[in-house]
Amino acid sequence: MKTLLLGTKNRGKVSELCKLISGLNLEIKGLDEFPAISEPVETGDTFDENARIKATYYARRLKCPVLADDSGLEVDFLDGRPGVFSARFAGINASDTENIEKLIALLNGVESSKRGARFRCAMSIASPAGTVLTTVSGSCNGCISSKPRGINGFGYDSVFIPDGYDKTFGELPLSIKQSLSHRAKAARKLVDFLAANLGLLT
Ligand code: IMP
Repeated sequence: MKTLLLGTKNRGKVSELCKLISGLNLEIKGLDEFPAISEPVETGDTFDENARIKATYYARRLKCPVLADDSGLEVDFLDGRPGVFSARFAGINASDTENIEKLIALLNGVESSKRGARFRCAMSIASPAGTVLTTVSGSCNGCISSKPRGINGFGYDSVFIPDGYDKTFGELPLSIKQSLSHRAKAARKLVDFLAANLGLLT
């Protein structure tokens, strides 16, 4: 059986990714097996660029095929911020709570019709030699709630209401998020690619 390493230390992402690609005949490994490895600097201006940076970085160092995800939240009222800076919105090493507090403060008093937002996700797979085999993407439209609601998920889930629902991802069951999220949409494309190209993971 071939092995695929998930190039992320984000537990929320690992948990979702494992379920989303579980149908493939692959042994999935996480970075917890390599605790000493440092994280790459995300210098890209786009989610695609950062996904490629992470996938090639871990693949070259660990000499195995790597799937990396770069994702984040774009808020219309903030002209697309925090975007690629979503994890660091309230500063380097900011917690999810601090990032959410900053977002809610910036949107304080903004009417609901102007609270549109979308999650975006790019996923890249790199070969052990560090060649990018594919990069796919997905997005999920919605809006930002006036305050955090629910405890499911991670990151901005407790303030993101996907289109067609009146609950946040933090309140909705994971099965709903996994059916319509940015990550789920990208993962479906990735699964199709891998099903047809497993031989490239050498
Ligand atoms: P990355 O590790 O640079 O890709 O950071 C992505 C950041 O975007 C995460 O730390 C979260 O704050 C946010 N994010 C990405 N995907 C999700 C999601 O599915 N739910 C909630 N927040 C997310």
